[in-house]
Amino acid sequence: MANYYQLAYGAGGGLSFDLNIGDFCSHFKLDSVKTLNSLKFLELDEYLAFNESVFLPSRLKFMVMNEQLYNFQIQNQGWDPFIKALLRSYGGAFENYVNIREFDLAKRANLNVQQVIEGLKQLNEFKILNYEQQTDTPQVTWLKPRQDAKALYINKKVIDERKANYRIKMEAVFSYAEQKTCRSILLLAYFNEMKAPKCGVCDVCLEEKRQKNPAQLFDTITNEIFQLLTKEALSTGSLVSGIFTGTEKEKIETIRILLDSGKIKFTGDKLNLK
Ligand SMILES: [Zn+2]
Repeated sequence: MANYYQLAYGAGGGLSFDLNIGDFCSHFKLDSVKTLNSLKFLELDEYLAFNESVFLPSRLKFMVMNEQLYNFQIQNQGWDPFIKALLRSYGGAFENYVNIREFDLAKRANLNVQQVIEGLKQLNEFKILNYEQQTDTPQVTWLKPRQDAKALYINKKVIDERKANYRIKMEAVFSYAEQKTCRSILLLAYFNEMKAPKCGVCDVCLEEKRQKNPAQLFDTITNEIFQLLTKEALSTGSLVSGIFTGTEKEKIETIRILLDSGKIKFTGDKLNLK
């Protein structure tokens, strides 16, 4: 990245640059996801600050002293009105960068905005001032000057910890999808809660109950059917949707068995107790 911005060793501290990730990655043939993650690590170790998108207004700072600027004005009469407009508006720009608005400057200098921008760019080239145009592209800021790669300290412990954490979480996700373990237990394992009890209500728990004891499932569904039909006669559809336990197939199978054994019967199109 230092090469990309043509930063010399020891330079760059506090400077910000536009960061076009696409261009940067294709320039060095890097993978963009890996690059973004690497930036995050450099940020963690406080080498860089990386803003995915910030709006920075245009700003400028004079790079010459008052007197040198005056000499320039005398020698380049054409620039005199423009520089006067600059000085009237941004007198503080000898000491610090000041935010400017090209639009305001254009009105004061009796120019259009494009002429103002061109003028500022030229003064920038003459090294009279530094002009940085507004941007809302991602920015990378060098918090420290460029270091020799050998002197770079990357906190490997943090990276290893994050890798390990990530692995545990990914494994939990895969287990969730594949394994026949209670969903609740797997979900809580993802959040590092390792001693959760079975929930008893997720699809895995219900399937387990079903396989352990089909007779109990049948009894539970039968009880529910009796309770429902004690209140009122119901159509098959209403009865099935009123039963909590089991799959639709298991509910219908139970109703069929109860019909066959004569424990419930049809009256018209409704089921009721015998
Ligand atoms: Zn469960």
